[in-house]
Amino acid sequence: MSDTVLHRIGGRPVPAADRRTFPDIGPATGQRIAEVARGSAEDVDSAVAAAQDALAGAWGRTTTAERADLLDEVADRIESRLDEFAEIESRDTGKPITLAKTIDIPRAVANFRFFAGAIRHDETGFHRMAGALNYTLRKRLGVVALITPWNLPLYLLSWKTAPALGMGNAVVAKPSEMTPMTATALGDVLHEAGAPAGAYNVVHGFGNEVGGALVTHPGVKAVSFTGGTATGEIVAAAAAPMFKKLSLELGGKNPTIVFDDCDFDDAVEGATRAGFTNQGQVCLCGSRILVQETIAERFTAALAARAKAMVVGDPSDPATGLGALISADHRDKVESYVELAKEEGGTILSGGTRPDLPAPFDGGSFFTPTVIGGLASTCRTATEEIFGPIVTVHSFRDEDEAVAMANGVRYGLAASVWTKDLDRAHRMGERLQSGIIWVNTWLMRDLRTPFGGVKDSGVGREGGRWSLEFFSEAVNVCVKLGEKS
Ligand code: NAD
Repeated sequence: MSDTVLHRIGGRPVPAADRRTFPDIGPATGQRIAEVARGSAEDVDSAVAAAQDALAGAWGRTTTAERADLLDEVADRIESRLDEFAEIESRDTGKPITLAKTIDIPRAVANFRFFAGAIRHDETGFHRMAGALNYTLRKRLGVVALITPWNLPLYLLSWKTAPALGMGNAVVAKPSEMTPMTATALGDVLHEAGAPAGAYNVVHGFGNEVGGALVTHPGVKAVSFTGGTATGEIVAAAAAPMFKKLSLELGGKNPTIVFDDCDFDDAVEGATRAGFTNQGQVCLCGSRILVQETIAERFTAALAARAKAMVVGDPSDPATGLGALISADHRDKVESYVELAKEEGGTILSGGTRPDLPAPFDGGSFFTPTVIGGLASTCRTATEEIFGPIVTVHSFRDEDEAVAMANGVRYGLAASVWTKDLDRAHRMGERLQSGIIWVNTWLMRDLRTPFGGVKDSGVGREGGRWSLEFFSEAVNVCVKLGEKS
């Protein structure tokens, strides 16, 4: 990876039209790790034009089989460079290298491989009626914008890029300004794998400068956005009057619901993972832990002990459990919730502090895994998305109260339920206002299943056929049959 992260437009790495750059700060040290091309509306225009040229040229003539082969080739190439990709991702995000090697990059590989298979085996509808038959065509949309956050950079970008390209669209990607590196590296891999120039373009830069220009560009037919709920509102307000297709994957404040008939050790392990994976910076993280009162004391003590035992520090050390948060600003925001929790009557049961680390990590944005008890489930700390290594624990009497507490927030992305009672598990599946409900597990994903949120956690679904449908336009052809048919 060069010291300057460039856009990729029309198959070539290019600087910003006005040559501006901005620094990419490594969260583990607080030091600059690269300069990044700072995009503008002019760069967005160039990228959209390059994408349109690709559609009018070689890319627009590719068959489904050829595109499936391309996605497989990309998967193979990322897999063969897994360590290198993991190292870049860990440096750019501050996450532990172990996490990048076992989750982020393998999932990017799986995304490309999965959608290669999905488009090969895709089927469309056929409807016979009296006197006619109807069949459904799935047509590409054209140029699509993919806007992604910093927490799982390649994982989420590949989740959109693979189906978007698979359905024959040309892509303009806008990765988070905090984590530009793997989006550009993905461009290199696509180029080496034989993607025609302009099929995949990247414009780096800030949300209000590049993201806004992309969302409102008349040449962009659809916007797939993953990020915060407040940004989602801005994106929706800009895109809706232009009648663009819009997919919004937004924030969450997800409950982990633990009943007293659970497997205790599994539930403690699951709640710990759900709370602190990626420093609590996964949209699906379970940051509100609701525990049945009969086991609440024992469970909370076990959870706090697990949190205290987690190693925070050097992301490149395989023993590290928690790396750095994405930035000093974000760490400050996360930390402010500890003060708020105290004001709201909470007790800090573990963490709540910046760890004391040796150079160069003393300049990094680390925070210890934090468990807070004693709060009302309706207070700000327990209902606002913190997006860091902070969980709050609340006790409930029975199933009805658990459901009311779980549903009592504006979000509805994911929930995990821990119980051995199968009937109860099904009931919770029906009653929870959440796009994803896990029972006795967390973050287990079959890529064929729908992914997305309800309430303020988003609009639309990704995954499997939902992604293929989003990145295409279903068109019905009705053929009148002759008199004798
Ligand atoms: P963010 O909303 O600040 O930024 C997301 C992306 O939007 C970035 O690329 C940013 O530059 C861009 N952006 C910002 N302003 C924009 C604008 N006006 N127009 C267009 N684009 C704009 O989010 P973040 O801080 O990068 O990520 C954290 C958030 O993402 C959390 O809320 C988390 O829950 C959410 N998230 C959701 C999912 C999901 O699948 N639901 C997955 C991961 C993260």
